[in-house]
Amino acid sequence: MVKLRFVRLVNVVLVAVCIAVSAVAAPISLHVDATQAPRKIFYAEMSIPATPGPFTLVYPKWIPGEHGPTGPITDLAGLKISAAGRPIEWTRDAVEMYAFHVTVPPGASSVDVKMELLSTPSSEGFSSAASATSELAILSWNQLILYPEGKASDDVEVNAQLRLPPDWKFGTALPISRTDAGNTTEFKTVSLTTLVDSPVLAGRHFRRFELSPGAKPAHYLDVAADSDEALNASPELIAKYRQLIKETLALFGNSTHYREYHFLLALSDQIAHFGLEHHESSDNQAREAFLTDDMIHLAGSSLLPHEFVHSWNGKYRRPQGLATPDFQTPMKGELLWVYEGLTEYLGMVLTARAGLASPEQIRDFIALSSATLDNRSGREWRSLADTAVAAQLLYNARSDWDSKRRGTDFYDEGTLLWLEVDTTIRKQSQGKKSIEDFLRVFHGGPSGAPEVKPYTFDNLAEVLNGIVPYDWKGFFETRVYKTGTKRAPLGGIEAGGYRLAYTETISPVQRMLEGIGDSVNVAYSIGLRLSSDGSVVDVLTDTPAAKAGIGPGMKITAVNGRQFSPDVLREAIGNAKDTGSLELLVLNGKRFSTYKLDYRDGEKNPALERNGQPALLDQILKPLTK
Ligand SMILES: [Zn+2]
Repeated sequence: MVKLRFVRLVNVVLVAVCIAVSAVAAPISLHVDATQAPRKIFYAEMSIPATPGPFTLVYPKWIPGEHGPTGPITDLAGLKISAAGRPIEWTRDAVEMYAFHVTVPPGASSVDVKMELLSTPSSEGFSSAASATSELAILSWNQLILYPEGKASDDVEVNAQLRLPPDWKFGTALPISRTDAGNTTEFKTVSLTTLVDSPVLAGRHFRRFELSPGAKPAHYLDVAADSDEALNASPELIAKYRQLIKETLALFGNSTHYREYHFLLALSDQIAHFGLEHHESSDNQAREAFLTDDMIHLAGSSLLPHEFVHSWNGKYRRPQGLATPDFQTPMKGELLWVYEGLTEYLGMVLTARAGLASPEQIRDFIALSSATLDNRSGREWRSLADTAVAAQLLYNARSDWDSKRRGTDFYDEGTLLWLEVDTTIRKQSQGKKSIEDFLRVFHGGPSGAPEVKPYTFDNLAEVLNGIVPYDWKGFFETRVYKTGTKRAPLGGIEAGGYRLAYTETISPVQRMLEGIGDSVNVAYSIGLRLSSDGSVVDVLTDTPAAKAGIGPGMKITAVNGRQFSPDVLREAIGNAKDTGSLELLVLNGKRFSTYKLDYRDGEKNPALERNGQPALLDQILKPLTK
């Protein structure tokens, strides 16, 4: 999963329970009515095989890829259960809010369940956040089903039907049986695992692009948008996404773990913006102009590459603690620095190799994220591993005091970490090997339908040692598991021929992200991250702003006597080189105060500068297939 960059950067995104498997029961039959999606309500009816006596049904809680208990239980409504045509009472478990107890009457062989999903207009969150507009909807099956407690999701079969508004089309990786004249589609019977892995994107304005025409397996870009105009991707842009398929296949040695792959891309300014990975598809949600506005596309240029990489890294190879047998067993996120961190690194590399962003732009992105990570006082108390263990909390953490708290750093710090792994493999092997050799062993194997191969930290270190002998365990223990690492792991940047520097000029990527994210980042000069209206989001420790006493929640209203604007503030920081100070008028609650900052270094914006070593990073960003 990933939050779109402009959100994450600027606001600053085995439990092997052996369940006795009885003979596979008849499938759950599930009917979903999505015709009311524009008014933000979905209806589900299901028939679930059961035997007389006490019976517990559960609502999916731990959602794959979201790494947390994010099933939208609060939005489940209208729950009615009956058996043999008669209503039966249900009671919610007093402790486990996602479980419902019933007693199945004698003679009954199934229970019938009716329920509603109240689909939120709020864009805070992931798949449970806003996902329906007047023109489109993203349907996540886990939100519309109950299943018997204690059953592994591989052992529950579901026959699903979906009714859509009359003129809507759809895309999904779920195999289809047929669609009738009333726009109801019956899907082939699949396991509950596959069903939840196969969301449906539907909408009035819909377009499919073939990304590997004539080749097997097939790759599709299925787009639904709030308008027809938003579907008008240029042929040049589609050519880059076709290149993404070629580059990704080359990266993983042409080994695939899907029957066909669908990028589901929902384009709307009214939905949540993020990506959620699946084995055979990904649920990508971006702004309406994503395919038609270069700047908006650039901000999210690594979204599809990141989610595609997950089919190999995250879905096929999965940390043992995240490879749970059902949707109720808690997930353990400790190895998210591999699951998300390596995906973020490879996603970035593929974004460059496919031409979706230029090498200069990629270097600007790296400069920004590594500066954030390199100036986090939270490093002193919290290890990178703890940000992964606590991911289920940190996805929802506020952005105030972000530098002290640390956020889901395993994404961006994962990029730095895996860049250093890549450059270390290249150095140790005198340029004969690279991370691709590791990927082909770790993520390769025979191509075919989805499967999950869990791994541990030891498995990972062992495979790396097979590529080049090195103290990989020590490498990760130092960088991932230790607290008090004041600096971010910048070794990969250094070995790549660059160093993190701070310059007076602001990079085009930083300007773009601040514009799109309504933010101002003057963290490395005076220590402040602000909203574009002057509201203080974060104050970095030991900076002029911190020493002057400024904190999150305050609002800068004037700078040296002039009304605040981002440009006025930047100009004053530049002028401080001569004056040695700047004066801020700050509103805290209902009171104004003046704060004097001692500062004379001018503007400081992150950039990567050449360090005299060979530019290995540039080499890494070059396409494999051209
Ligand atoms: Zn991800």
